[in-house]
Amino acid sequence: MSESFQPDEKGFYGPYGGAYIPEMLIPNIENLRENYIRIMNSESFRKNFKTLLEDYAGRPSPLYYATRLSEQYGCNIWLKREDLNHTGSHKVNNTIGQILLAHEMGKKRIIAETGAGQHGVATATVCALMGLECIVYMGETDIERQAPNVARMKMLGAEVRSAVSGSRTLKDATNEALRDWIANPLDTFYLIGSVVGPHPYPDLVAKMQSVISGEIQWQLRNKTDKSDPDYVVACVGGGSNAAGSFYHFMDNPDVKLIGAEAAGEGLSSGKTAASIALGETGVIHGSMTNLMQTNDGQITEPYSISAGLDYPGIGPLHAWLNHTGRAKYLSVTDQEALDAALLLTRKEGIIPALESAHALAALNQLDLKSGENVVVTISGRGDKDMKTYMDRLQLV
Ligand SMILES: *Cc1c(COP(=O)(O)O)cnc(C)c1O
Repeated sequence: MSESFQPDEKGFYGPYGGAYIPEMLIPNIENLRENYIRIMNSESFRKNFKTLLEDYAGRPSPLYYATRLSEQYGCNIWLKREDLNHTGSHKVNNTIGQILLAHEMGKKRIIAETGAGQHGVATATVCALMGLECIVYMGETDIERQAPNVARMKMLGAEVRSAVSGSRTLKDATNEALRDWIANPLDTFYLIGSVVGPHPYPDLVAKMQSVISGEIQWQLRNKTDKSDPDYVVACVGGGSNAAGSFYHFMDNPDVKLIGAEAAGEGLSSGKTAASIALGETGVIHGSMTNLMQTNDGQITEPYSISAGLDYPGIGPLHAWLNHTGRAKYLSVTDQEALDAALLLTRKEGIIPALESAHALAALNQLDLKSGENVVVTISGRGDKDMKTYMDRLQLV
């Protein structure tokens, strides 16, 4: 495999990535770009990151052999249980890492954007832990839809600011957060929740989440005496749990990498978030990538039953993994995800997040063979989705 899956000096993965930002933000981004690798490699960062991941977040997360699901699919299915982390998803790996980075850089005020609220909760959590001021931007529509997570953020001491422009969802919250950062460049750290945004964020977040694939390697070796699985399967919103699950396997072409993106009500329904299947190259959130846009370049409103996958773009690493064919991205509809969530629940007693259910549903599209080892990342738990499950699975 000749291609590199690491970004170049300017943050490009092939034609994707970079930093397309207003002039005013350049000093901030440069400061971060010049310091992140040095800080992340320092003895003190590594020690603090490891301790908090273990003792606070509860890592390593188990790699669980799913016996009854394996029987169903005729291969060996291993679940990487990110749902068992503190705050209920993989998001906390990244927020712990970035809060330590912010601390090292002397920043006292943390801003973040959130859609469903999972990243907002993980950010508010680590700000409480470190005693830092926390402001979370959230679209007005999402504030109404995700009331329990808004309450959690407030209890944790964060201020939730409502974005009232555009469709009042994630991309509007992002615009507000960027505006805040421009106005407060000196004391503020912008804590981004996925492998998106201007360089160095996509690389920085991928490295924070790479703890997932690092653990998969030694856990699988302990259980099977092979460290590399045949498949790694993960859902893709912006792409952080997938990037973290793929990371240590990207340079080994024998490991098939599968991303599951949200088709919503179907690729041709107009209600979808399948940015790889339907997207074209363009700039969103400060980087060049695949995104869903109209003929005149307006970003299309995304739709998915799962709020965490409801994003019109994808991180530039994934645009590149797709472009080179190194990873394959499959589209999964709302209904397929619901069916897969119920199957996991009934076969293994694990209620997954709706996002993670997309990864499970992608198994139906693979030609799995007896003896193959398939790792599926369960990015989060289903508690936050119970209302949707109750309504859509006719459980009441
Ligand atoms: C946020 C979220 C996602 C989607 O984000 P990625 O950056 O693509 O990982 C997936 N699953 C859960 C549980 C989430 O909270």
